[in-house]
Amino acid sequence: MALNILILGPQGAGKGTQAKRLSASYGIPHISTGDMLREAIANGTELGQRVKPILESGELVPDELMIELIRERLSEPDAAEGFVLDGFPRTFAQAEALEPMLREIGKPLSAVLVLQLPEDVAIERLLRRAELEGRTDDTPETIRTRLDLFRKKTEPLVEWYRIRSNVVPIHGDRTENEVFAEIEQVLDRLEESAA
Ligand code: AMP
Repeated sequence: MALNILILGPQGAGKGTQAKRLSASYGIPHISTGDMLREAIANGTELGQRVKPILESGELVPDELMIELIRERLSEPDAAEGFVLDGFPRTFAQAEALEPMLREIGKPLSAVLVLQLPEDVAIERLLRRAELEGRTDDTPETIRTRLDLFRKKTEPLVEWYRIRSNVVPIHGDRTENEVFAEIEQVLDRLEESAA
């Protein structure tokens, strides 16, 4: 069974880490819009130059741009095997645009995994990551902006998906291995019920 997974959660919840592990263990591509944008910036492409100041401020890249980016990415052949989407959608407009795209490629979401984490823990983890990795978008000011945007624009999508998909809350305030074990259990149950 192809797994078409969306992973949602605040910055610092470990989305990227879990998505990478999922990608490796289920053999599906990890589609991270944040990684795609950072790569464009590192390569100095036109897109990269355009989005660099936006990422540095912690704001969101305009919906139209993101929707086009993801449309192109999902049309690549590897996405036909399934995917783990990380960082998209982040707004209602993006979620609404994603629906027909997934229908077109015949890949409805198998599950929406919501990594849940208290905000103070998310802040603490982001500050630590800022020190360790030196990500230019992890400063105390941008962390505040990004978490506010998550709460205002992205978190309401959980409710939106609840009546459209299979929303599964995951307790994110645990070790990486514990969180991954829970995700594996959820996905194994999904595969069993589809078999
Ligand atoms: P992330 O690594 O997912 O936290 O993304 C890093 C930054 O890229 C975000 O703070 C936004 O500036 C931008 N970004 C990534 N994905 C999106 C999206 N779906 N919509 C708007 N901006 C995005």
